Amino acid sequence: MSWLSLAFAVACGALAWTLLEYFLHRELGHRHTRNPFGAEHTLHHATTHYFAPSWKKAVAAVPVIGGFGILLSWPLGAPAAAAFATGLGAMYVAYEWVHRRAHTHAPKNAYGRWLRRHHFHHHFHAPSTNHGVTSPCFDVVFGTLDRPGVISVPEKHAMRWLLDDHGEIRAEHARDYRIVRRRRAASPRPAAQAIEKAPAEVRPAMSHTSPTGRSGGSPPATRALGPAARETAPRRLGSIS
Ligand SMILES: [Zn+2]
Ligand SMILES: [Zn+2]
Repeated sequence: MSWLSLAFAVACGALAWTLLEYFLHRELGHRHTRNPFGAEHTLHHATTHYFAPSWKKAVAAVPVIGGFGILLSWPLGAPAAAAFATGLGAMYVAYEWVHRRAHTHAPKNAYGRWLRRHHFHHHFHAPSTNHGVTSPCFDVVFGTLDRPGVISVPEKHAMRWLLDDHGEIRAEHARDYRIVRRRRAASPRPAAQAIEKAPAEVRPAMSHTSPTGRSGGSPPATRALGPAARETAPRRLGSIS
């Protein structure tokens, strides 16, 4: 078998992985998620920094790649089947590396920038599109390609490379991404602050004042009564209701 034929078999294996990458992601990762891959992928979307453990990936990948090699050795012969399996395995490893790098490292070139925008659009905007990670080929073929605009990244999912030391988006990424921040808890209400600042002797009286400025300590009916009458008011009011 010529070196050219072997190289062709390796390239076919790499292309076959790209197709598998697309279908595994689309079908098992998003459409029919009741499977181990779907469970891990759901977790990856829910907690973007999460990746399935390497041993789980190896347990799944080795039999699939080995199975292809064994099955194809019958029609293609052992050398071509081995070359195909090599291409398949190499592209799978490349996919894993590139996907993780997309989450953990800033892009260094146009391909890296494209890949991140393509993938994070899938993560944060349109999970039913852009299933290919290393390539858009099969998104084009199957009509699931969606071109990203400015990508809104929830603050808690923000990739570390996207932010500077102050938690702000780095200038070089500002044209591609924006951070969506959670609303901060409301600051203490003015009435509560006034109570804290007031002299101790007047705080009990103020504590009956609601934030709207109306007295809220006693129901209106009992406020109209004197102190002694208030003692029995609940029972009397209760008998009315
Ligand atoms: Zn991802
Ligand atoms: Zn996904």
